[in-house]
Amino acid sequence: MGLADLHIHTLHSWDGIYSVSAVLRYVRDHTDLNVIAITDHDEIAGAREAVDLAPAYQIEVIPGSEISTAEGHLLALFLKERVPAGKSLAETVLRVGEQGGLCIAAHPMARGMNSLSAESIRAALQVPGVPQILVGIEAFNAGLFHRQSNQAAWALARSLPLAEAGNSDSHVLRTIGQGATQFAGKTAAELRLALETKATRAWVGPRQTSGVAIALNWLPNYLLRSAGWVSWCPGPLEPLRLGRIRQASPLYRAG
Ligand SMILES: [Zn+2]
Ligand SMILES: [Zn+2]
Repeated sequence: MGLADLHIHTLHSWDGIYSVSAVLRYVRDHTDLNVIAITDHDEIAGAREAVDLAPAYQIEVIPGSEISTAEGHLLALFLKERVPAGKSLAETVLRVGEQGGLCIAAHPMARGMNSLSAESIRAALQVPGVPQILVGIEAFNAGLFHRQSNQAAWALARSLPLAEAGNSDSHVLRTIGQGATQFAGKTAAELRLALETKATRAWVGPRQTSGVAIALNWLPNYLLRSAGWVSWCPGPLEPLRLGRIRQASPLYRAG
């Protein structure tokens, strides 16, 4: 069985702090993940950069985005182009489908976090064309603010004809892979098939970083990032170093 973490942020998210190269290096050196998706908020520049760099780190990367729909956050995978925020869930899903992508409902029902409600998901699944594209739901999200809703999300996943996903929703390196989606195979193509046939399982890592540890790691790096600095990896065999964001992540665009 393979493991995929399909919800990872980089500094291309407003609240992300690590460069794409630092994420890839961490995945290679510290996890058993076979596939990852880079899913920055309403942005795909980081995902594009990750796809370009991935072969050097011997990781398979799915280009994605966490889209802020009018009804809540939606993971879009296998994207070619950025999808605009602010549209209804069903319209967003259909736009992703036009590009050949797939969608997963992110952290459903998490309170106060722009999360899709069970009603929104159920209503969208009635729209023609949507069930072929909105194929999965996060039954487990290891993110700091979503843990309380995981049990309800798991129950919801069981009640809907959707593939179960587990993801880390990482904003710091150390949480990558603490939630994952288990599937038969090792490749992104096999993962896609497993999602489409609802054959995945949410996987919960044996170690979950505490909220305090996440915050203590995130805050200083966020301050550095705000000053224009980030940890990055100049090459797959080189150690992490601190550098200017523009050099570390050439596709970065401020704001
Ligand atoms: Zn989210
Ligand atoms: Zn997220």
